Amino acid sequence: MQLYNTLSAKERAELIEKAGKDRLTLSFYQYAKITNPQEFRDQLFITWNSLDVLGRIYVAQEGINGQLSLPADRFNEFKTHLDTIDFLKGIRLNIAIEQDNMSFLKLKVKVRNKIVADGLNDDAFDVTNKGVHVDAEKFNELIEDDNTVLVDMRNHYESEIGHFKNAVTPDVDTFRESLDIIEDDLKDHKEDKNLVMYCTGGIRCEKASAYFKHKGFKNVFQLEGGIIEYTRQVKDKDLENKFMGQNFVFDERRAERISDDVIAQCHQCGDAFDVHTNCANDACHLLFIQCDKCKEEMNNCCSTTCKEIHALPYEEQKALRKGQGNSNDIFKKGRADHLPYKKDLRNIFESFKK
Ligand SMILES: [Zn+2]
Ligand SMILES: [Zn+2]
Repeated sequence: MQLYNTLSAKERAELIEKAGKDRLTLSFYQYAKITNPQEFRDQLFITWNSLDVLGRIYVAQEGINGQLSLPADRFNEFKTHLDTIDFLKGIRLNIAIEQDNMSFLKLKVKVRNKIVADGLNDDAFDVTNKGVHVDAEKFNELIEDDNTVLVDMRNHYESEIGHFKNAVTPDVDTFRESLDIIEDDLKDHKEDKNLVMYCTGGIRCEKASAYFKHKGFKNVFQLEGGIIEYTRQVKDKDLENKFMGQNFVFDERRAERISDDVIAQCHQCGDAFDVHTNCANDACHLLFIQCDKCKEEMNNCCSTTCKEIHALPYEEQKALRKGQGNSNDIFKKGRADHLPYKKDLRNIFESFKK
């Protein structure tokens, strides 16, 4: 029985092309007690592989977190399968706003310790004591309230290309980092302010809201279904859209455009631009924002050094990399001293404090 992905991304892309069928990209998560994640994982893989599902799914004892795509005409079968699983019955699926048949090219179902790497010790607080879930309409109301502090629970490279108007956007690399910063900056307002938070699909706020309640915040709210579900509701119910720019996503699409505002800059020349790229140098792969003009000039590289290395014959590049190992640095996201226009978001709370 096949339990793991066997096709390369290239082979898969060719198959999708050949099939010529529209695929649907979606995401969902659920916190639930899964006693045997490995067994659950294997069953999922077998069923979903037969439905031609592709994506990245994490299974842990605490639940499941999935981002995936499948042929649109098999959606009902997929939904029927979900409904056979107790804790996934009737679950809300976040359907992507911008569809792309190539959003995922492999099916990877992984067993992890946690479904989000949140760095938290869950035993230290009650994770089920969550904040109030609000829909788009209520969210719009809440964030107009002078008594509200709106916080973006995502990382710097996500909020840089798009966020809600007036949101505080912590300049952090990890979720864990942002928790302390937010708590510290709002320590005098735990009881009098509304702490309203949001993230991509809602999953990070599930933990964050419980964490902040545990830390003594009295009025904690979270945007249900995150930016993805918000956008769907805004379109559906013809509400005012208060999100500016692009919603960063973790698949081949990298982002979906929510409004025409371009709130970011090319990290190399400073022109208004909001599309991320990875440095073409295999030893770098830095995620950064690069406009079309700079892309051409720099051959899709983040620095002249990377450009020179990228121009070398492949064997020479390989020899250069030898023995260097992959340090975590090379996957740093947009943090590099040689990018003059990378926005520093560190002082974000200052305006609020005044
Ligand atoms: Zn540029
Ligand atoms: Zn580079």
